[in-house]
Amino acid sequence: MACIDTSKHQGLRKRMAKEVQGKGISDPVILAALEKVPRHSFVDRLKESTMMETAFVSRIYEDQAFPIGAGQTISQPFTVAFQTSLLELKRGEKVLEIGTGSGYQTAVLLEMGVKVFSIERQKTLYEKVKRFLPEIGYDPFKWPYKLFYGDGYAGLPAFSPFDNILVTAGAPFIPEPLKQQLKVGGKLVIPVGEGDSQIMIRIKKISENEFVTEEHGKFRFVPLLENKAGL
Ligand code: SAH
Repeated sequence: MACIDTSKHQGLRKRMAKEVQGKGISDPVILAALEKVPRHSFVDRLKESTMMETAFVSRIYEDQAFPIGAGQTISQPFTVAFQTSLLELKRGEKVLEIGTGSGYQTAVLLEMGVKVFSIERQKTLYEKVKRFLPEIGYDPFKWPYKLFYGDGYAGLPAFSPFDNILVTAGAPFIPEPLKQQLKVGGKLVIPVGEGDSQIMIRIKKISENEFVTEEHGKFRFVPLLENKAGL
């Protein structure tokens, strides 16, 4: 592993997972994945001084979102865990993630034993994560994942259907192609709403054209952006 992961980092992660558990996440598979993934290495390090490094490391392991550059964030650990819990994943399932961002959620899903297809619309982030995940041990020849530079509104028709779909940015509406790309029995978890806050929506596909929608509280996400020229 190219990343430095000390017992201090591991201790902070244990504490972070406990905090997330205290907020209502009980699935041991999710908590174990949070303990495993070296969250501090998903954000560019502050190299100026050891003091700053120490401050950064404790901050990244607080239950909060953190900026990753390009105006984007690595989601709050509780939010990652909560969205993941709504998916009710089983090992071996095929999951589509919209908004790769830092790649943190992708790694959490991989640690849970699912196959991940993840789309990012910012080329710099896509390229960075493609280099970075193998560097910290997620060798694409050994781990079941594929990263795509593209528009999440369209999903990935060529690789559909998916057992579950997870959107990690706030969407102004529910993109129809994502509902189509679900298997019958599958779930789409998506924060919906423009502006400052979104409602976490879970949609279950119960037949080819029947869906059941549930609401799961208010969250705050960066926006799912409309297609950029050239994509
Ligand atoms: N899952 C990420 C959180 C990323 S924040 C993590 O664990 O770090 C949301 C991400 O969605 C951002 O990186 C943003 O660039 C991306 N995004 C926004 N609109 C998108 C779209 N239409 N298609 C794909 N990705 C999009």
